Amino acid sequence: MKTIFEKSNGSDGICLTDEKIEFPFLDKSFLRNGEIGLPKVGELEVMRHYKELSDRNFCIEKGFYPLGSCTMKYNPKVNEFLASLEGFCNLHPLSDDEDSQGALQLMYNLQNMLKVITGMDAVTLQPAAGAHGEFTGMKIIKKYFEVKGDNRTKVIIPDSAHGTNPASAKMCGFDIVEIKSNEKGQVDLDALKAVLDKDVAAIMMTNPNTLGIFEENVLEISKIMHENGSLLYYDGANFNAIMGYTNPKLMGFDVVHLNLHKTMSTPHGGGGPGAGPVCVTESLKEFLPTPVVEFDGEKYYKNYNLKHSIGAVKAFWGNFGVLVRAYAYILMMGKNLKNASENAVLNANYLKEKLKKYYDLPYDEPCMHEFVLSGEKQKQNGVSTLNIAKALMDENTHPPTVYFPLIVHEAIMIEPTESETKEKMDEFVDIMVKIANEAKVNPEKIILAPHTTPVKRVDETLAARHPDLNGKEL
Ligand SMILES: *Cc1c(COP(=O)(O)O)cnc(C)c1O
Repeated sequence: MKTIFEKSNGSDGICLTDEKIEFPFLDKSFLRNGEIGLPKVGELEVMRHYKELSDRNFCIEKGFYPLGSCTMKYNPKVNEFLASLEGFCNLHPLSDDEDSQGALQLMYNLQNMLKVITGMDAVTLQPAAGAHGEFTGMKIIKKYFEVKGDNRTKVIIPDSAHGTNPASAKMCGFDIVEIKSNEKGQVDLDALKAVLDKDVAAIMMTNPNTLGIFEENVLEISKIMHENGSLLYYDGANFNAIMGYTNPKLMGFDVVHLNLHKTMSTPHGGGGPGAGPVCVTESLKEFLPTPVVEFDGEKYYKNYNLKHSIGAVKAFWGNFGVLVRAYAYILMMGKNLKNASENAVLNANYLKEKLKKYYDLPYDEPCMHEFVLSGEKQKQNGVSTLNIAKALMDENTHPPTVYFPLIVHEAIMIEPTESETKEKMDEFVDIMVKIANEAKVNPEKIILAPHTTPVKRVDETLAARHPDLNGKEL
């Protein structure tokens, strides 16, 4: 397919005016002298070009999207309608509190709902994504110890953690101490005790962890950490694993972030938009970013007066559109939020049991919302996990997350999500079985996949290291 630049044929999409407009107030050095260099294509051609491009995208509306850890579930379309209501999307973020009572009320109510869901005592809606929530949470922990005059420098992170965890802690100036998982794929208590000292500010944990396994010793861990004067950070990006059944407060955590774009339904492929609210216990309330939304019995208002606030972490009040969708989703689901977790866990266990006959399952434990297979068996025939992922693309299925978590060789991390039917999952099982068989009898076919997509194998290393964003080097 040609790029829009290659399609440029000198025709004009629009014609504003031929008159030369003067800008006497602008310094000449700011004025362009030559052509702007935009492609010249008629309106209909532009439309066809972008429609064709968009048709090449894979999305949840097209097929199964079991991308582990990412919760690519169906996001009700009514949320889009609600987020685009004029009163929400045309409200200027600098409007006075009096003129934005509806938006503030929504934020206030959402804060309260997230308190109930996480068990925590106070919430900031500001962070724009999960990793941004982690960064905010770790800043809070850093400041908490600063205010205490207790200079703690280290953060413990299990080797099964999401890659953003060490990155966020490091960006806040902490040193990372990695601990190994045990044979059950869980935090090794002895390894934890061995690295614990008075320099440890916190542990960052995901529970269930990235293997989809619930940490059985979580209460013991929180006891050990608190006895050491350390705090516990909960990566709640995948809350569809536990929502309504348990919460981080009950497990003894002090800080948690949620990924509203995952659990509370905002379409989030391609890097956004997102919202990563951070919820904390009473003792960390004064450290939250400002403003937080409060209610004085009559009016909702933005409160900038938190004694130890780490300051703002985002322009304005966060990604408001995502907050509207999350609010609508929670109201719509009501008590059924619990069913979402139940189905997410049921679906994952169903797939795990069906697929473990055909693929290695290194940690054969009951899982939560996701599980991790290994492509080791197929590797013996020269078929790698990457090949399997590519072969799925020929079957109108988005590949699972691959080569993560790092502790599983040839990892295939599958999260079916709660929104899929049993029929859809049986279809996926058939596809995975077909690929496993093919890997034995006709490995070439899988190794050379995909065969049907518009773009075949791309050089991912080159794309990451040397991106050519405007296509000038094509
Ligand atoms: C998705 C995810 C993150 C990062 O969230 P972003 O919104 O992509 O920044 C962090 N931790 C876990 C466990 C995740 O699944």
